[in-house]
Amino acid sequence: MAWEMWLEFAVVAVLLGLFFYMFAFGSLTRLHRVYIILHIIFLIWPMFQFIARTMPGGRFQLYYISAAYTGLSLLGIGWLVFTIFLTGQSYVVRRRRLLVLALPALLSAAAVVFNPGGRFLKITESSGRHEFGPLYWTVIAQLILYLSVSLAILVYTVRKAGTRPHRKITVTAMNGLMGVAAFGIADRFVNGSGSTGLDGGYIPLLSAGLAAAALYMVHAIARQRAFDLIQIAQRDVMNTIPTGILVLDEHNVIVEANRMLRKLSHLRIGDKFNPDELAERMQIADKEAILAFFKAQQERKQDRFELEIAVYADSPRYIVVQSVPIRNQRRTPIGRLVSFQDVTELRLLIEETNAQNELLHERNIELMEIQEELSRANKKLEHMAVTDGLTGCFNRRYLLRQLEREVTVSMEYGTPFSIIMFDIDLFKAINDNHGHLVGDTVLKGTVEAVREVLRAGDILARFGGEEFTVYLPHTTREQAALVAERIKEAVQHNEMNVGDAGLTVSVTISIGIVSIDDAAQAGKPEDVKKFIDKLFEEADAALYEAKYNGRNRIVNRKLA
Ligand code: GH3
Ligand code: MG
Ligand code: MG
Repeated sequence: MAWEMWLEFAVVAVLLGLFFYMFAFGSLTRLHRVYIILHIIFLIWPMFQFIARTMPGGRFQLYYISAAYTGLSLLGIGWLVFTIFLTGQSYVVRRRRLLVLALPALLSAAAVVFNPGGRFLKITESSGRHEFGPLYWTVIAQLILYLSVSLAILVYTVRKAGTRPHRKITVTAMNGLMGVAAFGIADRFVNGSGSTGLDGGYIPLLSAGLAAAALYMVHAIARQRAFDLIQIAQRDVMNTIPTGILVLDEHNVIVEANRMLRKLSHLRIGDKFNPDELAERMQIADKEAILAFFKAQQERKQDRFELEIAVYADSPRYIVVQSVPIRNQRRTPIGRLVSFQDVTELRLLIEETNAQNELLHERNIELMEIQEELSRANKKLEHMAVTDGLTGCFNRRYLLRQLEREVTVSMEYGTPFSIIMFDIDLFKAINDNHGHLVGDTVLKGTVEAVREVLRAGDILARFGGEEFTVYLPHTTREQAALVAERIKEAVQHNEMNVGDAGLTVSVTISIGIVSIDDAAQAGKPEDVKKFIDKLFEEADAALYEAKYNGRNRIVNRKLA
């Protein structure tokens, strides 16, 4: 056997090898499949050339030569369809149109197979000579036509191609096409267009060209991987996300570890997964927990697992590890997807939010306390505003304000009321004899004594100095006289301790009363303030009368 025969065989081997390599790519796109069909067509020519040459000669040999030319007949259409898919015009190729498009190629293949009247290949039995007939030229012509159209489409696309990868892949196809064409032309020149080459002196240039083109294209495809956008996208996503991703097969071998995880753990694809090493490399704080985690995921293949771990890098980081089974169509677990998500940021955020919440809570409590204090202070102020500091009874301001309201209502509804005014008798003498402090004590003691005998609704107020007023609502003149009498008695019998040496003092008071018995008859006053002034004038006059008449007595006036 001659060397060129083995070359042919080698080409078959290379093309077959590349073919299987393409399958090994995994998920095939439509374009991959179209390329594979073209690749099979590539295979036909050298394969049958090889087989033909292993034949000792004669008719069988010619069958294989015909088979090789059938392949050649389909090369053109195969390339055109590939070109159409490659340039993204696949919508053009509907089934019926494809049939019309492929018609010349199919006719040419039929001509080769049936060889009508030896018009494709003529064999002269006696001389043993083989000669191509006119149909041979239709094979060549359709091939040239298809390849030219493909080349035109490719050139057009290269000019127009939008993206760089797209242009690159188109250029690759164009180079492949031109390579095959060049080798084909060279083959015809070298081997002679009219002969089968079976008579010897054949150099398989076209086969070599096909192999070279396929090698070139598969290499380009493998390098650029432009055929598989989705896979590229998935790979890009895998390698750019901040989550570590680990894919293990059922034997716990690492099938995939994305860039993020590889950086952290130095894991290598193809190695058996070793949790110990991972824990070591990643400086996982709780090693026991992570080992138990990976042990559990191996023992319970159907279950999902989740674990939060702390990792000591430059600063402590928190990572949530999740492990989910990967299942095939029959729901059988065939591996595991383990993800490592850094949740440090989230954790810090939550912690900070919690801290701030706590602070806010504390502030709130403080604020509430301040508010309470303020309200207490307000109440105190309110109390101070209406009470007399020394004696604790109401002050003159409060009395006047209260009277305005009370008198208005009483006059409106015709209810009786009375006002008592009293002044301590000869109080100056107490101050003079015992001092101012004793005077104060006497003032306080007197108020206490008066309070004892008053009713709930009565208002006792210090009018000024040692002069006091009692407002008695719903009280007639007679009733007021009784109250005044009680007050006078209470004060008179009130012995007050005023010194260390058991010194006691008692005082008397003079009382003036003014009463409105029949408010309806009095009529509604035009000006309440002036009316009240008048009431006080009357009470004062009554008090003056009591003083004038000898003190320690009551004088009564009735206004209406
Ligand atoms: P009279 O019977 O005519 O009322 O004689 P009096 O001495 O009580 O005379 P007057 O009412 O005019 O005197 C009031 C005195 O009360 C004058 C003042 O020094 C004294 N005084 C007024 N307010 C206070 C006080 O808050 N404390 C003390 N200790 N003395 C006061
Ligand atoms: Mg007095
Ligand atoms: Mg007085």
